[in-house]
Amino acid sequence: MKVLITGGAGFIGSYLAEAYLERGDEVYAIDDLSTGSLDNIQPFAKNPLFHFVNDTILNRETMLELTGICDVIAHLAAAVGVKLIIDEPLKSIHTNIVGTEIVLELANKFRKKTFLASTSEVYGRNSQVPLRENDIRIYGSTHLARWSYAATKAMDEFLALAYYRTKQLPIIIARFFNTVGPRQTGRYGMVIPRFVAQALRNEPITVYGDGKQTRNFTYVGDVVRAVIGLIDEPRAAGEIFNIGGDGEISINDLAARVKSITGSSSPIQHIPYDEAYQEGFEDMERRVPDISKITNLIGYRNSYNLDSILAKVVEYERTK
Ligand code: UDP
Repeated sequence: MKVLITGGAGFIGSYLAEAYLERGDEVYAIDDLSTGSLDNIQPFAKNPLFHFVNDTILNRETMLELTGICDVIAHLAAAVGVKLIIDEPLKSIHTNIVGTEIVLELANKFRKKTFLASTSEVYGRNSQVPLRENDIRIYGSTHLARWSYAATKAMDEFLALAYYRTKQLPIIIARFFNTVGPRQTGRYGMVIPRFVAQALRNEPITVYGDGKQTRNFTYVGDVVRAVIGLIDEPRAAGEIFNIGGDGEISINDLAARVKSITGSSSPIQHIPYDEAYQEGFEDMERRVPDISKITNLIGYRNSYNLDSILAKVVEYERTK
């Protein structure tokens, strides 16, 4: 099978590329290297089944050619990370809206099955536990740039579902809950690589807000296995799935855990949200996924817990 991965040099995209290559599939990866990097694809860049295209998904001509060649599209290219969205709102909205429109329009033209990577951000401030795929979304004011991420990804989901309903295009949507693992950069705000790097340098571990907010972290290898399983499953078409880890932890406890396993002397420092992001910033208090839908359909289960994820990230950050 020939797979087109948009965002194929990104953190999750590069793991997905590697997994398909290991299976013997051919991979075409497109990435503009805005947040992705050549380092991510370096381990398999010379594999003859791997083809890398350094371009943006906004270039319709390139996408036309690639969509024609491939059998399946995994659309992961997007502006990601709350910090990046706040710092570059215009570019982020454009990539997430126009980019996905191009991907889906061309997928429909060639009738290619398309997987859309979405996010738990879509639930917004709904902190009900656990979150199910058809639960409501609660968003703050448009004055706060963070909500544009949730809104653009929700729009992408609407668009994909509209293609499924009106054109019978086989699309699959998955909402990722805080995917982590080696190679993830802390540059765009992601908490685990930031905490681990801070701890290893014995610098202050920066907890934003009161640190009582919780997250469920998911190992990138588990996410990739779930994505491939969904793409292989015909009954997944037209459906939305949560993909998320099972150990809920507060950011305060995460900071303490990272400090302890690294044997760091870092102080834990609380930084107000206004300072860390932007004035009036609103965070999600809890975000616990119900993954029974994907488990029931393809038998998916997480194989990494938080401790085994942290061990892998620490090992990677130590050798960097
Ligand atoms: N966070 C933190 N310190 C950091 C980076 C992030 O306390 O240096 C917090 C952030 O405010 C959020 C949680 O960690 O409550 C997870 O942040 P991340 O950006 O990794 O993912 P999000 O869940 O916001 O998409």
